[in-house]
Amino acid sequence: MQQPTLNLARKWRSAQFKEIIGQDLVVRILQNSLFKNQFFPVYLFSGQRGCGKTSTARVFATSLNCQKLQEFQKNPQIQMPCLQCQSCIAMTAGRHPDFIEIDAASYTGVDNIRNIIDTSSFLPLLGERKIYLIDEVHMLSKAAFNAFLKILEEPPKFVVFILATTEVQKLPDTVRSRCFQLFFNPVNLVSMTEHLEKMCNAESIAFEREGLEMIASVTQGSLRDAINLLEQARFAAPCVTKKVVLSVLGYVDDAMVCTMLQNILQKDQLSLATLFASWSGKIISTDYLVKRSIEFLYDGLIIKYGGQAKYAGSMVTQLEAMVALVSLQDLMVCFDELCSIDMVMAKTGRKQLLFESLMLRLSLRTALQQPEVVQASTSVHDIVHEEKKK
Ligand SMILES: [Zn+2]
Repeated sequence: MQQPTLNLARKWRSAQFKEIIGQDLVVRILQNSLFKNQFFPVYLFSGQRGCGKTSTARVFATSLNCQKLQEFQKNPQIQMPCLQCQSCIAMTAGRHPDFIEIDAASYTGVDNIRNIIDTSSFLPLLGERKIYLIDEVHMLSKAAFNAFLKILEEPPKFVVFILATTEVQKLPDTVRSRCFQLFFNPVNLVSMTEHLEKMCNAESIAFEREGLEMIASVTQGSLRDAINLLEQARFAAPCVTKKVVLSVLGYVDDAMVCTMLQNILQKDQLSLATLFASWSGKIISTDYLVKRSIEFLYDGLIIKYGGQAKYAGSMVTQLEAMVALVSLQDLMVCFDELCSIDMVMAKTGRKQLLFESLMLRLSLRTALQQPEVVQASTSVHDIVHEEKKK
């Protein structure tokens, strides 16, 4: 029988420092700390979700009890942790008696912290140190933090706490001031894309680089989100292309956004309704549609003013042709209306329906315009028009 494959995120979780992506400074600090054998009793790892805090905490914790630590302190070329000693094997298997991982989001109460305080005074069983990793530490209750402060002030010599949080500002100052804080950056686009490429090659996943760049750009520095998206894309189609990634996300491609805007600007309701009919049964992200439409219309306005498009990318020629046929006033009305529907959309569970009806209404235009808006827009338009005549 075929073994079930681990999902990519678990399979590619960093096991050694060299595998941690995009956190060079943090890695250097932690490795130096191991090399010099100087440790803080409490570490605080902060940064956005999915950028490697928990994985790094596990790598650091494994290294602290790795039986090769003394060897590493003589020869820093050795990769840490070794992953082969008894302690490392127990860590990898998730059954190290001296490593206690707590998700504070599930255990917010004071009893849990009291339990930590009680057990932390017992000597470690297998390694040199007893390590507590408390994830999402900002979720602890006020009473729990107060109880926790006592042990943070004077932890037993063999205990190391690693606190991880996405919302460091929610921690009491009294707690923060007792921690050695390390900041995790969002993983940058280049490191992220390179890592995804490496994964694809190792896992025999067919890809186009543009597809991976798309994944890296939409996940905004969260490697975990990027890997999950890659996982979805690879099962959605034989090759991970930009188009596949867009469809997994429910993002329509730029050509379609342009076609929609063209129909609106030309007041062509029939074509618009036909386009919407073609979306039936597909996953469409209206949030993305609104965002991308606003970007295109913004570019349209800039082009009208004689400037250069910023967001249109490969669609710039089509956009130029499109805006040449409409007035500045028309463009302004559409731009303003799209900017303001964000709020309305947030309040409905039927986003696509609302979006489509709003776009159809926008294509009628006259129904939307308030007299004073027309007045203002007309005057701006006239000024530009007059300027051009000169
Ligand atoms: Zn080891």
